[in-house]
Parts: sequence; C-alpha cells; structure tokens
Amino acid sequence: MNHVYFFDEGQADWKDLLGGKGANLCEMTRLGLPVPPGFTITTDACRAYHTNNTVPDTLWDEVRTQLQRLERETAKRLGDAHDPLLVSVRSGAKFSMPGMMDTILNLGLNDHAVEGLAQQSGNPRFAYDAYRRLIQMYGDVVQNVPKHEFEEALDDLKDARGVQNDVDLTAADLRELVDTFKGLYRDGTGHDFPQDPWAQLQGAVLAVFQSWGNRRAVTYRRLNNIPDSLGTAVNVQAMVFGNLGDDSGTGVGFTRNPSTGDKEPFGEFLINAQGEDVVAGIRTPQPLSALERLLPEAHRQLIDTTQGLERHLRDLQDFEFTVERGKLYMLQTRNGKRTAQAAVKVAVDLANEGLITRQEAVTRVDPEALNQLLHPRLKPGHGTAPLTKGLPASPGAATGIVVFTADEAAELGETQDVILVTPETSPEDIHGLAAARGILTARGGMTSHAAVVARGMGKPAVVGAEALRIDRKAGTMAIGDTIVRRGDTLTLDGALGEIYAGAIPTEQPEVSGQLEDLLAWAAETARAGVRANADTPEDARRAREFGAVGIGLCRTEHMFFGEDRIRWVRQMILAHDEHEEQEALTHLLHAQREDFRGILDAMDGLPVTIRLLDPPLHEFLPSLEELAVRVAVAEARGEHTDAAHADRALLSRVRAMHETNPMMGLRGIRLGLTRPAITRMQVRAIAEATATLEREGRAPKPEIMIPLVGTADELAQARAQVEVVLEEVRAEQHATLDIPIGTMIEIPRACVTAGEIAQYADFFSFGTNDLTQLTFGYSRDDAQGKFIPQYLQAGILKHDPFATLDTEGVGALVRMAVQAGRRTNPNLKLGICGEHGGDPASVRFFHDVGLDYVSCSPFRVPIARLAAAQANV
Ligand code: ADP
Ligand code: MG
Ligand code: MG
Repeated sequence: MNHVYFFDEGQADWKDLLGGKGANLCEMTRLGLPVPPGFTITTDACRAYHTNNTVPDTLWDEVRTQLQRLERETAKRLGDAHDPLLVSVRSGAKFSMPGMMDTILNLGLNDHAVEGLAQQSGNPRFAYDAYRRLIQMYGDVVQNVPKHEFEEALDDLKDARGVQNDVDLTAADLRELVDTFKGLYRDGTGHDFPQDPWAQLQGAVLAVFQSWGNRRAVTYRRLNNIPDSLGTAVNVQAMVFGNLGDDSGTGVGFTRNPSTGDKEPFGEFLINAQGEDVVAGIRTPQPLSALERLLPEAHRQLIDTTQGLERHLRDLQDFEFTVERGKLYMLQTRNGKRTAQAAVKVAVDLANEGLITRQEAVTRVDPEALNQLLHPRLKPGHGTAPLTKGLPASPGAATGIVVFTADEAAELGETQDVILVTPETSPEDIHGLAAARGILTARGGMTSHAAVVARGMGKPAVVGAEALRIDRKAGTMAIGDTIVRRGDTLTLDGALGEIYAGAIPTEQPEVSGQLEDLLAWAAETARAGVRANADTPEDARRAREFGAVGIGLCRTEHMFFGEDRIRWVRQMILAHDEHEEQEALTHLLHAQREDFRGILDAMDGLPVTIRLLDPPLHEFLPSLEELAVRVAVAEARGEHTDAAHADRALLSRVRAMHETNPMMGLRGIRLGLTRPAITRMQVRAIAEATATLEREGRAPKPEIMIPLVGTADELAQARAQVEVVLEEVRAEQHATLDIPIGTMIEIPRACVTAGEIAQYADFFSFGTNDLTQLTFGYSRDDAQGKFIPQYLQAGILKHDPFATLDTEGVGALVRMAVQAGRRTNPNLKLGICGEHGGDPASVRFFHDVGLDYVSCSPFRVPIARLAAAQANV
C-alpha cells in the first residue's frame, strides 16, 4: 500500500488518508490551480509510526521516489549549490487544528545551497534570512531548542545595529545571524545543524509525526472532540517566496466574512513576508483591498480562484496564498471556521444562492454554536464610553477579572470569570484561552491565532488593540492615562471590538432574520418537537419566542419559595391539625391558581406539562444544622422566649422528618400518596385555572405529570386521586377539563415495568437526570466535584453522563420503556425533560428511539430544534 501520494494523485474526499490540507492541495492541483508541486505522506504512516515507534519499511524509499519526481518537475535539486530546491514540511490532520502542530519552511538549505539561492535570486539578504529561519524552525520543532533563544539573538542584533525591523538588517547582518543561530543550535543539541538535506527531511517528517502528540495538540483535540487515533499527514511542498521584495507577499483570507457571514472576500496580507508572519501577529497586516491597489493582477486572480473554489467545494473557504514576484500561488484551502452568526448567514445564503439545499443548510450549522447567538451582548444605551477599541475578532460580551498569562487564566478560570490580556497568543496558550471568558490582545489581526481560536471556541475576543501597553512583570496594562491592574474587572464587546473598565450590563438577543429562516427549515425537517422547561410566565414567553411547541416540564416547587408562599408552605407541612393544614392549603390554592393561569395563558394553545410537587418537604424548612445550633445557643443562654420555644418545637419536627438519603426518600409520588391533601390542592389549582381560561375563550392545554413513579400500583392510586379532583371541578364549573395524566419515568424499575405502568399513563416523560443518577448510582449533586473529572481523564467515562446521555446504559432503559409502553398503550405520548433534552448528541438518540418531543431550558430551544432536524436528515 502506498504511503506517499503526489499532489495530482489524490482528491478532496481523501481527508482520512491525506489530511484536510493534503486532500485539498490535491484537489486544487487537479483543478489546475497554481499550487506549488509536492506530495503527501499519509496518516496511515503516522499511525504506524506511533504504534510501532518506527516508520513503515518502505516509507523512505517512497519518499525518495516522490522527491525525485518533485526535483524533475521543478528542475531543481534539494541541497544543490547552484539552484537549490527548497521545500516546506507541513503537518495536516483530517480536521484542521490551526497552529497546533508543526511546519518547517525553507528545508533543504545548507552552507552551499544558501550561496546558490543567493545567486539564483539575486538577493543574498533573502537567502540568508531563509537560512536563519530554517535553523530556527528546525531547531525549535525537531530538536526542541527554545525558540526564544533565537528570538533574543535576533533582537540583540537589531539593537546592536540600531534598527527596528527585521527588514532593516543587511545581508551581512543576516549572514552573521546564521552563524549565531548555528552556534545556538550546537549548544542546544550537542551537534551541528545537519548539512545533509535528506537528513533534514527525515528529521522534519518525524518531527511532524511527533507533533501529533504534543501537549497543545492533545489539548486542542480534547476540546474539539477529535479522536487521538487519527494521526496527521505530512505535506512536502516546493517553497515559493513572498519575501522577494515589494512585488511579493503572503496572506490569508476567506471567501466571505467569517465574523458576520457577509458575502465579500475578506483577508489580510503582508508585502515582502514569508509564511507565518501574517498569522503570528508580528506585524499588523493590511486588508485584502490594499492588495488590489498594490498588485491588481494577482488580486484579481486570487478572487477568481477562491470564488471558484467556493463554488466547487460548496462552502465558505479559508485560504492561504503567496505572491512571488507578481505570480500567485495557492498554498491551502479549507472550509473556514466561522462565528455562529456567520455560520447561520452563510448556510442560509448558500441555500438561497442554490449552491446547497435547505436541508443541507440545516446540517451546516453546529447546534451548539447557536449558543453564541443566544448569549449576552452589551445592553444598548448603557452609556459607558469604551477605554479603547481593537478589532472585533469574536462576538459576545464578557466580563471578568484581568489576568496576563495563560497559566494564570487556567488557574483562576476554574473558579472565577477571567479575561486573558496578552500582547498576542500562541498555540502554547491554548489551556488559558479555554479557561478564559474573554480574550484581549494588543497585537495581531482578524486571522491571528487568538482570533481564530476564540471564534472556534465561541468566546468573545478583541484583538490588535494597539493602544494597550502591557507590563506583565508589573501586572498592569496602560491605556493612555488609565491603568488597569491584574484582578481589576474588565468588559469586552467582541462584536464591536470595544473594551470597558468595570462590568457593563448585558442582555439576551432575540431570534430573528436568517436564524428564523434556518429554524423554520429545521422545523420542516425535524420529526421530534421541542418543548421548554419553564416555571414562570416570562420563561414561557421566551420559550415560545424561541419556537418551543409547548412546556415539557413546569416544576411547581419553585412556586412554593415565593415570599408570600413559604410561610403557608411551612404551615402546611408542620400543621398540627386539619384546621391549620386547611388554612395553609387554601392560601396556597389561590396562589397556585394564579401561577398556573399565568403560564397556561402565556402558552395558550400549546401543551404545558405540570409536574406535581416533587422534592422532599424538608427542603422548605430551615436546615437541621442551623436549627440545632440556634436551639443549643438559646439553651446555653437559658433563653425562655416564645421564639426559643418555637425553635425547639420546630427542631423536633425537622428531626423527625430527617432522612439519610432524602433524594431517595419521601418525595415525588410517595409524597403525593402519603400527603394527598397537597396533590388535591395542586390538581384543583390546575383545574380551576383551566376552567377559568376556557370560560374566557382561551385554549389552555395542561397535562398533569406525576413524578418518581416506580410501580404501576403507585400510579394507579395517584391517578385515581387526580381524577376525583378533576371530576369535582368539572361538576362545579361545568367545564370539560380534558387533561391528560401521565408520569415521569426516572426510576430504573419504572423502565423495566413500563408496560404495566403505561396502563395508567397518557404520557411518559423521561426524567433523565434522576434516571442517570439512579442507574449509575452517582449522586447528581456531588459526582461532578468528586470523581467525574478523573473518570473522564482516565477514559473510564467518555462523556459526563449528566451532560450527554449514556446511550448504552441509561439509553437502553429508555429504549426498553418506550417499546414496552407503546405496546401497552399505542397512543402513549413520549418525551424527555432532563438536561439532556438540550444536548445535541442526546437529542439524536431521543429521535432515534422515537420520542415525540424533547424538552430543555428556554435558551437551548433553538439548539435542540436544529439538533432534532439534523437527527432526521
Ligand atoms: P498551519 O497549518 O499552521 O497553517 P501550514 O503548513 O499551512 O501551517 O504553514 C504555515 C505557513 O507557511 C503558512 O502561512 C503557509 O502559507 C506557509 N507555507 C507553507 N508551505 C509553503 C510553501 N511551500 N511555500 C511558501 N509558504 C509556505
Ligand atoms: Mg495553514
Ligand atoms: Mg426527577
């Protein structure tokens, strides 16, 4: 089997084998675009290298054969003393991991070849610059000689010559720098920089293989769910030079604006620069429009080429190019990363332009990314003036305390909101970027590392805020006369690029425009509906705006905590006699009737599943510890006041109600059956609110849901109880009250016996939080902080089961219950109302097992709608 393919031998859909970069270099070559020739070493070879600790037997022979072809095609030879071939050795995995792995440029230069390059180019300055870059990159990437040693030597030389910029150094300066760099290389490695180009090539290929396992690459893969097993390909490609003078340059761009999605080419370039100078944020680049003025022909060709690529690949392209003495070369293209806003706009536009179908458009947006659109932005008219502005690199508002290093961000970010402020970022900072709420850099453009990574992570970023003067040592940054210190609060507006002192109020955006179109197309595509979990009329209204087709879980316990309620709730719980209980219940009945009326009205015409009281009653009482302390203190002081008396009485009641495992105790249906007065009150409140609304000509659609059922007999009794009250109210109010009665399925036993339970249920709603807790035996309140992180790290768990449904265990129970329930009751309605209802991977599972709807928090409704559609494509 081949391990090496020349660029005209592969194609775009071989990304598994050739990596994304390699496959697209092949595709561009096949399309006849101006791509410097080269070849790709496969991901197979990388995988074999990592498995066996050595490369496949035939690899170097294959590489040599393809290198010979490359030498023939370019009519140059690697290491030639007159007209040397130079190559880049570029990593490139299936999924792009910008800047995470290593690339080496100008490979093939040695002491002889550099003279040849000087002569051939007529530009000795350029040749020595290329050579010193090679020694630096090779030293850093292949031999781990610290990069900063080279950078410091370069700075020292500039100081000695009294110049500001690299370009002001002469050929003689750079020749001297080459010698200095060789010395650093020797000091760092104990041997000389390899003069044999073939040895250089082998070393570079192995280093790229190894870079797959470096820390930042591993972190990046973890954050982006990219499997460690894929491996990277290696691309060996003839060099072209953007640093041959003012008719040369290098740049990156997008066929559409990756921040807004606007249909206009967008990019940046540097005249007279090589490779990574643009992305590194070292010099602030110029916009693509400036290229049109400086090199109009190359610009025109670039636009034509990249627009053609967009049509051919049917998505927004992110490309790299170099112009060498006026001639354009394409170095890379890929589907561009984009903000959520741009993802939505581009998908909708491409569908409207006829390049993709509406159904494809629905699949083009990562549901999770919508989070960005639904997240806060600064309240318009907040009236505060920004301290300064930078480039709007990634939208969203973020407030947090200032830190100046990635390590600090990682450390403090666990417990606090932090804003990472640095001159620029590099791939080594990935752990800090991941931990920060927002990112602010002083240098770099819209395609700088910080900007690309922040957009990918969906977190606010402002870059290139040139007014910042950061002093890391002192832990301060100055903006004009204002000094901001480490720990001070800062707010970023990533959409406008603005930076504010202190915390600025934020607000939630609404669903509108293109997102509305996309979600409408999603609704045409999805089978499962999306409801919301909401307990208040405001939440219900928001859910409705976001397109929820009902409420899947209206918890009633939150209503009990209201200031006007809690004392009646306590009286109800602690009542000594029927009179006291009745008095409390009457007050609660009035309050609950209004609660339900508000929600049913807000959701007029749509179903609202109301869950009867679920939590253990002690949650409504003062805590045992608190009371015990109070009583002990009063006793020690010998207090005999009424209050002390009452406390003592309360303490003994609370003690009597105390349970060792309250979450597995007297709660849910058990409570309803042992304290039937509470159930009767709640059902009456629902029924009366419904009757009232019906009389007013509204269309309330409540559904009564009984929590924590484990046996069919439990539900049979509870159902009978509910029906008695409904019948009473029907008779009193001459109302129809067509109210379905169902149950939550959240105890494993209920899943196993769902066939029997379904006899008494009009619907099932899977409570996957409790079901996960009880199936795993993990406390949902503690497991997070105790062992789940370690389990994830050790690979014992693939996902946090409270975030993404465990399909093998909990999911199997769900499937079992669905099948048994439907067998008994073919009209059984099925839904899910745990946290998992808003998790795209879990939504797919719920679709697959045939649930009618998922229910999630209001802000996740659009995400779930998109996920439900994607599940049905
Ligand atoms: P990354 O994946 O980090 O972008 P690349 O392999 O794309 O790494 O290369 C890094 C930089 O070097 C890019 O700016 C790219 O355009 C440039 N580069 C790579 N190969 C060549 C080449 N053959 N000629 C000129 N520039 C190159
Ligand atoms: Mg690249
Ligand atoms: Mg529950």
